[in-house]
Amino acid sequence: MDRIVVPVTGYKLDLYPATAASGGRRGGASAGDVSLRSLELGLALPSFWAPDEITDAFAEANRIWIREAEIEFSPVTVTPRSEVVPAGSSDMWAHFINHLSPKGRGVGVGFVYDLPEQEGGWGGGRVAVVAGVKVWSGIAGFAGNTLAHELGHVLINDPNHNSADGDASNLMYDRRNPRVANAGLLNPRQVTEARKRALLL
Ligand SMILES: [Zn+2]
Repeated sequence: MDRIVVPVTGYKLDLYPATAASGGRRGGASAGDVSLRSLELGLALPSFWAPDEITDAFAEANRIWIREAEIEFSPVTVTPRSEVVPAGSSDMWAHFINHLSPKGRGVGVGFVYDLPEQEGGWGGGRVAVVAGVKVWSGIAGFAGNTLAHELGHVLINDPNHNSADGDASNLMYDRRNPRVANAGLLNPRQVTEARKRALLL
């Protein structure tokens, strides 16, 4: 397999609350939509990610993606950024998609302190976001493994984790334990789809 290289525009991302009251403004809110409490209270949420933590996370994510599919995320640039975002999860995700997608090639990746859901991160379209507070408490490599998983949502159209076929060692398995190393494996179908998509990024 030839190596496919995907550039990353990364952001150490501070979040600021949107001031407009969002009640009743949103169309199509899903059941179970939850809000990030501090933003709801009008408080900013600094990223708190250290540059080394971001570097280490990409090293681990690349170790997995190169080993499994010969896909490398490179070059990775990371700059500080702040965004004014809605507190609710579906509005916030839409904001990330609309604002963090790179203008040119590649994937936009935001490193935030927290997200308004249980997951360690989100991924889709050409954007991934990782929540520090959800991954820092895990075992060594968990942040990078989570980053690899979210980048998997960019490379593989699998929002419901069906492609893992219930295999807990698969990178796209949904119930990931921060105390147990996920092997980060991909099956042949996932490799084919990810490489096809990576060429278009
Ligand atoms: Zn997932």
